[in-house]
Amino acid sequence: MSEKLVATKSEKLTAVKGMNDILPPDSARWEWLEDQVRSVMGLYAYRNIRTPIVEPTALFVRGTGESTDIVEKEMYSFEDKLNGEQLSLRPESTPGVVRAAIEHNLTYDGGKRLYYMGPMFRHERPQRGRYRQFYQLGAEALGFAGPEVDAEMMLLVHHLFARLGLRNVRIEINSLGRPAERQAHRVALIAYFEQHFELLDTEAQRRLHSNPLRILDTKNPTMQALVQDAPQLLNYLGDASLQHFDSVKRLLSACAVKWTVNPRLVRGLDYYSHTVFEFLTDELGAQGALCGGGRYDGLFELLGGKPTPAVGWGMGLERVLELIQEQGQTRTAPAPDVYAVIPDADALPMTIQVLNALRAAGISVQMHASLDQNTGSMKSQFKKADASGARYALIFGNDELAQNAVTVKPLRDGGGAQVTRSLTDIAAWASTLQSHT
Ligand code: AMP
Repeated sequence: MSEKLVATKSEKLTAVKGMNDILPPDSARWEWLEDQVRSVMGLYAYRNIRTPIVEPTALFVRGTGESTDIVEKEMYSFEDKLNGEQLSLRPESTPGVVRAAIEHNLTYDGGKRLYYMGPMFRHERPQRGRYRQFYQLGAEALGFAGPEVDAEMMLLVHHLFARLGLRNVRIEINSLGRPAERQAHRVALIAYFEQHFELLDTEAQRRLHSNPLRILDTKNPTMQALVQDAPQLLNYLGDASLQHFDSVKRLLSACAVKWTVNPRLVRGLDYYSHTVFEFLTDELGAQGALCGGGRYDGLFELLGGKPTPAVGWGMGLERVLELIQEQGQTRTAPAPDVYAVIPDADALPMTIQVLNALRAAGISVQMHASLDQNTGSMKSQFKKADASGARYALIFGNDELAQNAVTVKPLRDGGGAQVTRSLTDIAAWASTLQSHT
């Protein structure tokens, strides 16, 4: 063990900056969100895929793009100490999903609709809505070339947001066309920016030849006018690309989903073609992008697979939860149905059996447990029972147990009077409670 690791032994350790613990009761909001996601994915017949969090660095260099911010500055990369392999924590999931699809020949019998949820890692400056470990939900439709799947992808996100009760989310779309069209536009774009070289900031000057499309994405206010007048990719698209884009727009409109075309939407990653889109809010300050995606027909080949059309998106779940909160939705924290008050440790063997029977009947039970060897005074036990949010306390007193009975004390309004019930009908009584399972 290195000197440095041992020397800090007695210090209090904290989480890595920009990486958050998700604690109860907040974690219940995450579970609720994940349940909604699974349900909506089921409605659209998307199936779950789980790929590793660590992948070869080369996958992202090739798949995400060498001259993207992600690969240039944001990846957590390291050498595997055992075999020297260069590895990275995944900054996004699309390259991993495509790698898995190629490796397991997933599209051999037709297209596949997939979704994933999990942590991604980017070394960014932490701020509200921007973290170094964040959770992404994403969907990928592999092996489908038609505009109907581009539309389906956006309809799915729209449906999910409606299910989550989100309001005021706009959809921006654009088309990046085919590689040859992008190439013609790229040449025009470089020529245009070269003419105005002195107006470019140093970042843009550096990017001019490696990734000029990204200059259009600039947040620099002094470059906005320049970027506004730059050649637009839409003007370089051929008939087939325009037709694809028109179909996507028509299908969205047919479902009464509103969109606007943002000709400057290029997305940060190299692999997109044809449709690109973003779902945005103005209610989260600077981090208003909730979901972004598009078609990436060239990525399979780039990663050594057979040409396979595909389309996908990724969504930041922290931002979605922040927007839900911002818009005033609250969710009650989960609570057990009953809290077991145990006045005397002698009663434990009998009590624990009854509690197990209740759980087997689908009743959620929180058993009193103390920090020390004492069971705790009745007063402190009732305080905890109340704080648990349970509707009833079951009191397992020795006298009642001796007569095969337990006292049921309502803790909330409308719970009726305190009664003593025989253990033989306690499960029947409990089954009248609205169960948690
Ligand atoms: P991207 O892969 O960059 O298109 O990101 C897709 C979505 O993930 C974005 O629209 C955000 O909602 C979310 N996202 C990206 N980076 C971060 C981050 N550092 N922290 C939190 N969410 C993020």
